[in-house]
Amino acid sequence: MDMPLTAADPHAEIREEVRKLCARFPGEYWRELDARRGYPTEFVKALTEAGYLGALIPEEFGGAGLPLSAAAAILETVQAEGCNGAACHAQMYIMGTILRHGSAAQKARYLPGIASGELRLQAFGVTEPTSGTDTTALRTTARREGDKWIVNGQKIWTSRAEHSDLMLLLARTTPRDQVAKKTDGLSTFIVDMRTVLGKGLTIRPIRTMMNHNSCEVFFDNMEVPAENLVGVEGKGFRYILDGMNAERLLIAAECIGDAKWFINKAVAYAKERVLFGRPIGQNQGVQFPIARAYAQMRAAEAIVQRGIEKFEAGLPCGEEANMGKMLAAEASWAAGEACVQTHGGFGFAEEYDIERKFRETRLYQVAPISTNLILSYLGEHVLGMPRSY
Ligand SMILES: Cc1cc2nc3c(=O)[nH]c(=O)nc-3n(C[C@H](O)[C@H](O)[C@H](O)COP(=O)(O)OP(=O)(O)OC[C@H]3O[C@@H](n4cnc5c(N)ncnc54)[C@H](O)[C@@H]3O)c2cc1C
Repeated sequence: MDMPLTAADPHAEIREEVRKLCARFPGEYWRELDARRGYPTEFVKALTEAGYLGALIPEEFGGAGLPLSAAAAILETVQAEGCNGAACHAQMYIMGTILRHGSAAQKARYLPGIASGELRLQAFGVTEPTSGTDTTALRTTARREGDKWIVNGQKIWTSRAEHSDLMLLLARTTPRDQVAKKTDGLSTFIVDMRTVLGKGLTIRPIRTMMNHNSCEVFFDNMEVPAENLVGVEGKGFRYILDGMNAERLLIAAECIGDAKWFINKAVAYAKERVLFGRPIGQNQGVQFPIARAYAQMRAAEAIVQRGIEKFEAGLPCGEEANMGKMLAAEASWAAGEACVQTHGGFGFAEEYDIERKFRETRLYQVAPISTNLILSYLGEHVLGMPRSY
C-alpha cells in the first residue's frame, strides 16, 4: 500500500533518494547480517557517501546543514523501507554535544571528519550496569592527573562501540557526596577509542535478541587527554540532556517508519491471502487491528511533527519529544503485532522479515529511554505532579 506524502512535504525529494538507496539493501541483506550479528558496513558506507549521516552538521564544518526534519525524514524512510538505521543513526546526533558545547578547536578537529564519515562518532557511553536509568548514580570516574584524565569504570549497552572511532563518555569527576546537586560533578569526554583500545579500554559485544552491535565497555586506568573534556568540568549531565529532545524525535521518526513498514506489509497480505473464498482482509477481525495501528501511527506522527517544528523554531519541545517517542514506539509495536497476526504462521518465517523487524522495533519501548521514565517526565514536568523518583 502506498502512503502518499502531502504536497507540502519539504523533504519529498530526500525521501525519494533514500528509498532508491534502500532498494539496494533488500531483506536478504539484513537477514544474512541478522543471522551472524554482522555490521551493515556497505549500507552505512552508502548512507555516509550520500551525505545523510552528516545531515545535521553545519556546512561550515563540511556537513549538509539540514534541519532536524530532514534527518527525521531520512531515518523514517530507512525504516519504512525495511532497513535498519540503528547501525549508524547516532552518527547523526551524538556530534550535537560537540557542536553545542565543544571548543572551537574540538569542532575544527572532529566535525569535518564526522561529516565526511572518515571519523565515526557513534558510541555513546552513558548507561552502566548498576545505575541504569538512575544516571547520576553512575560509577565511572575520571581523575585529573597533569594533562590527562584517568578513567576507571564500566559502561553497558554501548551500541556500535566496535564500529566507532570516538565515544562520547559521561563520567563522574567529583564524587556525588561532594556536590550540591547530584546532577553536578559529571563531565563529558571525547574518547578516541583507536588510541586506547587494549590500553585501558576493553570492548565486549553482547548478543541480544536483535542485531544491534551493543557492547560492554571496561575502563582500566584509561588515559584521555585533558583537551578532550567537552565544555566545563562538572556540567556534562546538562550537556547530555541538551541533546535528548533531538535524539527522541529522531528515534520516534524511526518508529513511525517501522510502523509504516509493518502496516504496508499487513495490508498487502490481507488483500492477497484468500481463505474461505475471500481475502482475509475482508474480515473485520483482521482489518481492524491494522486500521487501529494506522490511526495510532498517524497520531504519533502528528505529535512528532509538532515536536520537530518546535525544535526547529527554537521553542521548548520536551513534552512533544517525550510523548512522540513513547507514542511512536507503541504504534510501531501495535503495527508489528497486527502484521505478525495478519500473516499467521508466515509471520514467524524469517524470509518474510517480519519477525526480524518485530524484534528490532521492540527495543524502542526501553531504549534510549523506557516508557516509564517518559511518563514520569510528563507527570512531573508537564502536569506538575510530585517527582516520583
Ligand atoms: C540494545 C540496547 C542498546 C542501547 N544503547 C545504548 C547506548 O548506545 N548508550 C547508552 O548509554 N545506553 C544504551 N542503552 C541503554 C538504555 O538506554 C537502557 O537500557 C534504558 O535506559 C533502561 O535502563 P536499564 O536497562 O538499566 O533499566 P533499569 O534502569 O534497570 O530499569 C528497569 C525497568 O524499571 C523501570 N524503572 C526504573 N526506575 C523507575 C522508576 N523510578 N519509576 C518507574 N519505573 C522505573 C524502567 O522503566 C525499566 O522498565 C541501550 C540498551 C539496549 C537494550
